[in-house]
Amino acid sequence: MNTSATQTLGTNAKDLRTAAALLGAGALVAFPTETVYGLGADARNAQAVAAIYAAKGRPSFNPLIVHVSDVEQAKRYVQWSDTADGLARAFWPGALTLVLPLKDGHGLSALVTAGLDTLAIRVPSHPTAIALLHAADCPVAAPSANPSGRISPTSAAHVLDGLSGKIAAVLDDGPCTVGLESTIVGLTPAPILLRAGGVSAEDLETALGHSLGHPPGHPLGAPQSANITAPGQLASHYAPAAHVRLNARAARGDEVLLGFGDIAGDLTLSATGDLIEAAAHLFEHLHALDKTGRPIAVAPIPDTGLGLAINDRLTRAAAPR
Ligand code: AMP
Ligand code: MG
Repeated sequence: MNTSATQTLGTNAKDLRTAAALLGAGALVAFPTETVYGLGADARNAQAVAAIYAAKGRPSFNPLIVHVSDVEQAKRYVQWSDTADGLARAFWPGALTLVLPLKDGHGLSALVTAGLDTLAIRVPSHPTAIALLHAADCPVAAPSANPSGRISPTSAAHVLDGLSGKIAAVLDDGPCTVGLESTIVGLTPAPILLRAGGVSAEDLETALGHSLGHPPGHPLGAPQSANITAPGQLASHYAPAAHVRLNARAARGDEVLLGFGDIAGDLTLSATGDLIEAAAHLFEHLHALDKTGRPIAVAPIPDTGLGLAINDRLTRAAAPR
């Protein structure tokens, strides 16, 4: 994590190049979108994505929305479809996020999707967000730029209140028109409204030419609270198929061992005990060990910093199913 002073940048060409270079170097840059200020990191860089969770102090890993500059960029990462094309033509750039199956060779960090095989992606309409995406020339993962549990920031001053010293820079382009968060539509493949937001269900249905499905537990017409991850909002959570045993100091029987610190495993989250590095490796290593078809033993992870989010996910993976 960057612990030196946070730079406040403007929107002139030089400052945009500085912000883009910081993103390229794996640093965190907050930037305005039409909804709220986002906390951006290069979505291909697992350490940078892990640093988002560390800066926000999030106690759990939620998949993040990846921001791209246009439809052509989106097609590099997800399996595009006619329905996606229709919705993108109608609502991009803008406050609509599409959840689509990841494309082979997407190159994104598994932490961005929290290990899922689908990706939430959108093209924002804020000119400064678009200018930054063009300058950085990379997919940018960005949740709201506030510490976990605090109110979403609608100005650079709000961002600095919460994250000063924890991020490399904030691009100041004045207050956001306080809008709603993006509407999230799942297309895997039937269109489902996963979160209500800036684009209305009626407008989506007009563009689709038919009605939208709703996830179980969300009666038609009941809008979800914009900031709360309602149960059932996620189609599924990644969990390994294998049995998982926590706090293991060594493998037993047929187990493969996921190591940490001085407990070296078949794969090790971080040999130096660095929790950001461990978070960056978590989903990739779980997937790889799961592929062996053997039960997974996991070394103890301290319950501090990002260790909370790592243990949250490991505890769910170990829960009887
Ligand atoms: P935020 O970035 O705070 O607007 O939150 C992103 C939202 O997108 C969260 O509610 C996630 O649960 C949701 N989300 C991100 N990726 C996926 C995905 N692959 N499938 C379903 N929901 C997703
Ligand atoms: Mg938020």
